[in-house]
Amino acid sequence: MQVLSGLRLNELEKITDELHQSKFRARQIHNWIYLKSAKTIDDMTDLSKAFREDLKKIAVVTDVKIKVKQTSADGTIKYLLEYPDGECVETVLMRFDNRANLTACVSSQVGCAVNCSFCATGKRGFIRNLNYKEIIEQVLTIQRDTGLKVTNVVFMGQGEPLLNLENVLKAMEIFNDSFQIGQRRLTVSTSGIIPQINKLAELDMQSTLAISLHAPTHEIRRKLMQIEDKYNMRDLKLALKNYVEKTGRRITIEYLLIKDLNDTTECAKLLAEYLHDIKCNVNLIPYNPTAQNDYERPSNNSVMKFKCLLEHSGKKVTVRLERGTDIDAACGQLSGKS
Ligand code: SAH
Ligand code: SF4
Repeated sequence: MQVLSGLRLNELEKITDELHQSKFRARQIHNWIYLKSAKTIDDMTDLSKAFREDLKKIAVVTDVKIKVKQTSADGTIKYLLEYPDGECVETVLMRFDNRANLTACVSSQVGCAVNCSFCATGKRGFIRNLNYKEIIEQVLTIQRDTGLKVTNVVFMGQGEPLLNLENVLKAMEIFNDSFQIGQRRLTVSTSGIIPQINKLAELDMQSTLAISLHAPTHEIRRKLMQIEDKYNMRDLKLALKNYVEKTGRRITIEYLLIKDLNDTTECAKLLAEYLHDIKCNVNLIPYNPTAQNDYERPSNNSVMKFKCLLEHSGKKVTVRLERGTDIDAACGQLSGKS
């Protein structure tokens, strides 16, 4: 059986050719899959009954199962998906106040090798990469289940996208062409894999690059992220400046705020210094508790103070809205377990 989800138009045309149908039929199937959220071949009502019967003999819409679905009080939906080999990942749909925007937070790997101290995903270790079809299947599942069209995709679920770059780039291409999601509505978040950041600069990526910086100095960052020993902040800065120069794009700096660890006035000053010559916005993320460590979330007051200090340095600063904490769907809480 062929799986229709994830096929490009030219691949669908091969199927319609085999079944002696016109290429226009392939375009119809394509739109049913990516834009009109068909759950089954029978949903594709502008195809003739006879053609649907033939198609059903050789193809299915998807082979991915929703294992668990949880809905948060704030409307965030978290899915645990199961691929045919039994591996599972989580994917999250967020609706912000502006209801026109529906953001899917997708996973790029099962587990993650980077193992940051604050993150539930890293605690599982690395299991495997997802291929590009498995990545886009997450967005298709959301669209089929809700009947809504996803407008933005962020690679902020499980996994380090830049350690699975080929599949991530292919998925982004399909989000762009087949789902008709503009490049600027796609965001890739990374813990700072320098050679791959350089590669994205060469490719002149027009999507948003988000960097999980989380610390103002090498000493503090090492405590939080062991990747700092491999790719340190000094070299990272050179890569970011090169990226901005090549692409002309503004970077997003993600900064996790952990009480008494990296949320002090001194830290805000050092961070402003580090960022002063990088074209970026800053997104502050108050730490979301995960069971595995004893970090604490700072008070709203100290978050606001940190924000003000950074704003004084001339940066645009936002505080990430907390979504789905009640169902463990917030940043860093995805472990992929049922
Ligand atoms: N691996 C990539 C993308 C996935 S993580 C990366 O690390 O950038 C998405 C974001 O959630 C990252 O900025 C990550 O540092 C952050 N995060 C991880 N654990 C968190 C936690 N417990 N609370 C808040 N944010 C967390
Ligand atoms: Fe991996 Fe990102 Fe979690 Fe670090 S924060 S362990 S890079 S998923």
